[in-house]
Amino acid sequence: MDFQGKLSIIIPCYNEEKIINQAHKRVLSALEKLDVDFEIIYINDGSDDRTLEILQHLAKSKNEIKIISFSRNFGHQPAVSAGIKYCSGDVAIIIDADMQDPPELFPELLEKYQQENCNVVYCVRKKRIGENFFKKITAKLFYKMLKNYSDISIPQDTGDFRLIDRKVITEFKKLKEKNKFIRGLIFWLGFKQVPFYYTREKREAGETKYPLKKMISFALTGLTYFTNKPLYQLLKFGMIILSIGFIFLIFLLFINFSQILSDNQTSMILISAIIILSGINLISMGILGIYISNIFKELKSRPEFVVERTINIPEDKNI
Ligand code: UDP
Ligand code: MG
Repeated sequence: MDFQGKLSIIIPCYNEEKIINQAHKRVLSALEKLDVDFEIIYINDGSDDRTLEILQHLAKSKNEIKIISFSRNFGHQPAVSAGIKYCSGDVAIIIDADMQDPPELFPELLEKYQQENCNVVYCVRKKRIGENFFKKITAKLFYKMLKNYSDISIPQDTGDFRLIDRKVITEFKKLKEKNKFIRGLIFWLGFKQVPFYYTREKREAGETKYPLKKMISFALTGLTYFTNKPLYQLLKFGMIILSIGFIFLIFLLFINFSQILSDNQTSMILISAIIILSGINLISMGILGIYISNIFKELKSRPEFVVERTINIPEDKNI
C-alpha cells in the first residue's frame, strides 16, 4: 500500500477511563504498522471520570496526540463533529473509543479507499457480537425506519466508523445545522462512497454511553432531519379518518341504531372512539412538536459544543 498523505484518527470519549489506555495502544500499533504520517484526535466529551487525566498523560509524550476537551457532555455527534472540524489529515477515520470497531482494520480501509479511488469508505456491520437482544432489535428497527422514511437512501447497519477524505471534510465543515446526524449528512454530501463489511466486536470494558433516552433522541434526529414524510402521512391519515366519519354519518341517516344496539353499547362505542381519536390527535401533535423543536434548536443557533481546553492544538486553530 502506498498511501503518502496524512491520516487523522478521530476518537470521541465519554467516561472511558477503563478503556482508553488499551484503546490507545491498539490504535497506535495499527498506525505504526501503516508507516504513515498521522495524528490522533481524542475528544473528551465532558467525562466526569479520569478520562481527561489519562488522555493528558498520553498527549504529553507525543505531539501527534491531540485533545479537544468539552466544557460538559454534549454528546457523541458533537464530539465527532469537533474532530472532523479540527483534523488536518488528507483522510480521517472516525472510530469509537470502546474498540467495538477494530483499529486493526485501518490498513484495509485505506487500501479500499485507494483501490476504489473513492471519497468515503463506510463500514457496514455484517454481524454484531456481544450486544444484547434489545440493542440489536432497536437498531434493526431504526435502520429499517430510516431506510423507508428518509428521502435519501442512507445505508443500513452503518455507524460512524468510516474513512472520509479531504473533499468530504471540507464540505462537511460548511454544513450549518447544529444538531448533526453525521452518518446521514456524510451520505447526503454525495461523492463516491463505498461500503466495507466487518464484524462489530463487543465493548472491551465499561458500559454503553447510549442509554435508551439518548438512543431515542438520536433516532428522532436521524428520522426528522432527513424527511418530512411523517407530516404528510398525518395529513393522509386525517383524510382517511374524515372519510370514515362521513361514511358513518350517511350510514346513520338510514339506520336506526336503537334497533341494533342498546344505549349502553352506544355509549361504550362513543367513549372508545373519543379515546382513540384523542390518542391520534396527541400523537400528531407530538410529531408536529418534534419538527417545531428542531426548528427552535436550529433558530437559537447555539454552538454545537463548547471547548474548555485543547492540548497539542495551536491556539489560533479555529475549532
Ligand atoms: N460517546 C461520547 N459522548 C456521549 C456518548 C458516547 O463521546 O455522550 C462516545 C463513547 O465514549 C464511545 C462512542 O461515543 O467512544 C460510542 O458510544 P458507545 O460505545 O457507548 O455507544 P454504542 O456502541 O453502545 O452504541
Ligand atoms: Mg460502543
